[in-house]
Amino acid sequence: MSEMARWLFLCCSLPCVAHKVAVVGAGINGGSAVHFLRQLTDDELVLYEAEREVGGRTYTQRFANVTVDVGGTAIYSKNRYMAGFAKSFGLQPSADDDLNSLIGIWDGQSMRTELNMDSMAMSALKLLFRYGLSPLRVIPVVREAVGHFDGIYDLQGAGQSFETPAELLRALRVFNLTQTSAYDFLAGLGVDDRFVRELVDGASRCNYNQPGTLNAFAELISLAGAGVGGHVFSLANGTQAVARGLARSASRQLLGERVTEVQESNGGYVVISEGKGGIRREQFDGVILATPLELTKIRLPASAKQLGRGREYQTTYTTFVHGMLNKTYFGLETSVAEIPSDIFTTESSTSPFSSYGVHKILADGSVVVKLFSRTQLTDEQLHALFPKVFEVYRYTWKAYPKLQPLPLEQWASFRLGRGLIYTSWLETSASAMEVAAIAGRNGALLMREALQAKTARTARSTRERKEFRGFARGSPRQVHNKPLLIEQAYDYGRVFKKATHLGPVQ
Ligand SMILES: Cc1cc2nc3c(=O)[nH]c(=O)nc-3n(C[C@H](O)[C@H](O)[C@H](O)COP(=O)(O)OP(=O)(O)OC[C@H]3O[C@@H](n4cnc5c(N)ncnc54)[C@H](O)[C@@H]3O)c2cc1C
Repeated sequence: MSEMARWLFLCCSLPCVAHKVAVVGAGINGGSAVHFLRQLTDDELVLYEAEREVGGRTYTQRFANVTVDVGGTAIYSKNRYMAGFAKSFGLQPSADDDLNSLIGIWDGQSMRTELNMDSMAMSALKLLFRYGLSPLRVIPVVREAVGHFDGIYDLQGAGQSFETPAELLRALRVFNLTQTSAYDFLAGLGVDDRFVRELVDGASRCNYNQPGTLNAFAELISLAGAGVGGHVFSLANGTQAVARGLARSASRQLLGERVTEVQESNGGYVVISEGKGGIRREQFDGVILATPLELTKIRLPASAKQLGRGREYQTTYTTFVHGMLNKTYFGLETSVAEIPSDIFTTESSTSPFSSYGVHKILADGSVVVKLFSRTQLTDEQLHALFPKVFEVYRYTWKAYPKLQPLPLEQWASFRLGRGLIYTSWLETSASAMEVAAIAGRNGALLMREALQAKTARTARSTRERKEFRGFARGSPRQVHNKPLLIEQAYDYGRVFKKATHLGPVQ
């Protein structure tokens, strides 16, 4: 018998053992890992979530009888994963036809300019008049970055995994953009300072609560949602429903179960967690950590490598207000319906909020507005904007990493150990639900490889043992591999006009 035939024979004689995988964190990242791993294997997938519900930074609430996303909301129409998930879970886009498509730039004293996203020709003229050739320098670069990023779907569809975030971004030819600030990058293109201070800062303050000191990749992605190359939409029932849909691929969901430690054990890992039932220990073949380790305390095996430098997270205060808007606040002599639905602010502005977005104008003329800010908005500040406040809802987030360029030597690896995968580091380049979904799929692909390698190691050691004993026995081995399913692209089209946050584009 040839060496190969003997190997195949011995592999087939191994007993059938399904693997067990733990996924820690039931946000879009962990949900996507479970969803894509389910397409690859029939293994037992256990999803741990510290909170009592899945979703993480997708968190949907009812406020003033309106469904609102307190965290991630806007999906770029060409984000194949998020749009595909929404479609396969039967989720409908929001219809916000009653809102105008105006974006205003506010400096705390005056509305510097307004752009009508429904009339691109008018906006283009306005842009050229105000910013000269700068838009013409920036738009092609945004489109190019978006086009390069698009390559991820084919690569992942073909089963390609990446060991590090840098490797993934290099394959998409966007890594260099993460190593320079948007300010430096745009200055290099000869972009006018006014364009940077108003539109660039305005978009990134809205999306990331940070100015253009962030890395150029995050900035270009952020600008894409301001109307270059696609549209953004939200979901009528909120984005948390996507996380719920993804979590259904898990064999078991352990909610309210906070993982405190992962230990190496028996060729795999023991996950130790605390929940209602006390301390729990469970053995797994592999573990995917799908939560930023800066925001949670999980002890890892000493062998875990390349965790990267701890990232600082931007605190974002989210305030929803239902009230009557002070029409004169923005110095515009116009009706509430004609005040821009989305207002960006400049970094040097005296505005207490970083961005303002109308969710709904109700029949009595009151409005439901979402504000992001870097400090908690006081009641006085809210009353200046809304003389009559009916209801307020506040939520504070460690929202996204401070996205400044980070030298490569400070980046983490996706693979911390043989079967220990850390997916959350892709967010160092840009934070968005689509990025989380891509990271989750990469984690699923890496985990499949880790499990296959584990099977091969087991096969080798079993062969060695059996050869030593001089015989082989056992039931035929089943290979737990399903063909890869590629998500269908799904474009909801121009249904959601707001550009409150941009997901990276396909
Ligand atoms: C205010 C705000 C607005 C945003 N707007 C947008 C937007 O419009 N569009 C967009 O694309 N993106 C947006 N984002 C970003 C987007 O929401 C995030 O990038 C994405 O949801 C991150 O998903 P994740 O799964 O990586 O992390 P998370 O959603 O943070 O999930 C991590 C999960 O792990 C759980 N966990 C933590 N520790 C443990 C533990 N020890 N054991 C078990 N579980 C644990 C957490 O409870 C959490 O559920 C926004 C974010 C914020 C905060």
